[in-house]
Amino acid sequence: MLYKIKDAVDSEMQSIVEDARELIRIPSRNPPGEERRCAEYIHSRLKELGLNSILLHEPYADRPQVIAYARDSRFDELRIVLNGHIDTVPEGSMEGWNVDPFSGMIKDGKIYGRGAADMKSALAIMMHICKIVGRRDLLLCFAIGEERAEPGTSTILKHVRRLGIDRLRYGIVMEPTSLKIATCQMGALWLNVRVKGRSAHASIPTNGINAIVRACKAIGALEAYARDIAKRSISNSSSMISNGSRACIPRCSVTMIAGGVKENIVPDECSFTIDRRVAPYESANDVISEIKALLDAYAEEYEMSMIAERSPVCIDESSILVKGLSDALATIGITDHPVCWCFPGSTDNEHVVREGIESIVWGSGSIEQAHAADEHISIEELRLSTYALALLLSKLGYQE
Ligand SMILES: [Zn+2]
Repeated sequence: MLYKIKDAVDSEMQSIVEDARELIRIPSRNPPGEERRCAEYIHSRLKELGLNSILLHEPYADRPQVIAYARDSRFDELRIVLNGHIDTVPEGSMEGWNVDPFSGMIKDGKIYGRGAADMKSALAIMMHICKIVGRRDLLLCFAIGEERAEPGTSTILKHVRRLGIDRLRYGIVMEPTSLKIATCQMGALWLNVRVKGRSAHASIPTNGINAIVRACKAIGALEAYARDIAKRSISNSSSMISNGSRACIPRCSVTMIAGGVKENIVPDECSFTIDRRVAPYESANDVISEIKALLDAYAEEYEMSMIAERSPVCIDESSILVKGLSDALATIGITDHPVCWCFPGSTDNEHVVREGIESIVWGSGSIEQAHAADEHISIEELRLSTYALALLLSKLGYQE
């Protein structure tokens, strides 16, 4: 079986690479949310590749996403969902780029361009995987809007449920993890803080209370807090905590600031935002209380409001999916990576797990390449991930 799968992967690799490059050549930046042309390309290629049950689902006007499965699948057979997002972040300033972000250039065994790692190469694997493994229980979801936390994936999952596809059991969100199996992912809290003071003429500053100075004291305290919380995962030795969860490191950063009215006015207001990455072993309420305690002490007068919240996600490490993938990786000689890892950012896996699906984040390419200039992915790693995925899928489910 091993040789058959390896041959199937090898004979499909050239097409996977070409589709990844073609997807990179069709910009799908978000903002503004220009996924349409990429979605249409995926749709037409899937048809050519023999997947005749393909739906274009449009949660927002002019922003279709693609749902596909094998033509002869029955809805109650569809058990495994592979998920990827069509959108990318914009290319940003061209200063850091040494290559055209939309050329899909190949150099030294790597594909370059916006989306090479995050995550158009993974979309290309998803497009070809049915041809390689020929399984009828796969649901492929090509979602929009991930880069701005829009509910693309969650609208797909609700839509397929309405269609009668309600027995999905395992999932893989194929974000770049350098082949590490992320059984957990961090949550996030975005908070806005408006620090108050009292305005005065700057020639008599003692008549006022400088809100910028108060904000700076609070920010200094938050920096110390950030150093403290980063040690929590190490100090947390409870056996109740899974390995994946223990790999999650809480983070806190001040990411935006604004304050002051005029050169000669002591400012009565300064606002800043906090990005707090929440580990699965923390509670959002506790985290908010900790931050409030710091602000009470240092900012004194302030208002805090929540901009957005994303929940951390963890699945049981004894899942057949995790064991199967780890075995598949070992079969192809990859044993030197943690099996249960924590994805540091938020991904659509939050929505997949919320639907009751045992789902992980896993894929080729490095998270450090995501959103970076000169984004690239190694073709060899792309091949290894395709091979491991094919091995996993060829076994998964039969052993239940
Ligand atoms: Zn991504």
